[in-house]
Amino acid sequence: DDRVARITKAIRVIPDFPKPGILFQDITTLLLDPLAFKDTIDLFVERYKDKDISVVAHGLIFGFAYAGVEARGFIFGPPIALAIGAKFVPMRKPNKLPGPVISEEYSLEYGTDKIEMHVGAVQEGERALVIDDLIATGGTLCAAISLLERVGVKVVECACVIELPELKGRDRLGDKPLFVLVS
Ligand code: 5GP
Repeated sequence: DDRVARITKAIRVIPDFPKPGILFQDITTLLLDPLAFKDTIDLFVERYKDKDISVVAHGLIFGFAYAGVEARGFIFGPPIALAIGAKFVPMRKPNKLPGPVISEEYSLEYGTDKIEMHVGAVQEGERALVIDDLIATGGTLCAAISLLERVGVKVVECACVIELPELKGRDRLGDKPLFVLVS
């Protein structure tokens, strides 16, 4: 698919960020390329539009085993949710959401982190897609899946723009399907 080639080209790789030895996959350059950004959203929408999904949840805001907390915005989830007619549910690091929350703690390389979701954002029996920009160890996606499953939501699939296969995040997801555009 030409579109995957265009997306791959638009992702900038930055060595030694945020610390030495890490090859950072920078998706901000993908956002600067309207064609590649649109291709990204279109590929997900084509895959999920007829899957009876009512929730798109996003785990983007946190998660860096090696860098503490990241703070990019919710980039890929909302346009996909709009296009497939699903609601968008933000999952955030602690104390960011103003209403009552339920939370899920998950382990990082050193220590733990937590994600939160508003109580009542999803209903039992809904079908969800969990989106993130990148899967590394899979810890973030696993936490998002557990949180949704605890309240009776079926997570149909996880989808990421980028997978770092050497970190084996896919194995950590077990039998939960994972769809990625660039590996
Ligand atoms: P995991 O929980 O799978 O180990 O890490 C995934 C999380 O870390 C994602 O939320 C992702 O945003 C962030 N992350 C880790 N490495 C990178 C990277 O190289 N580039 C980007 N864009 N995000 C990363």
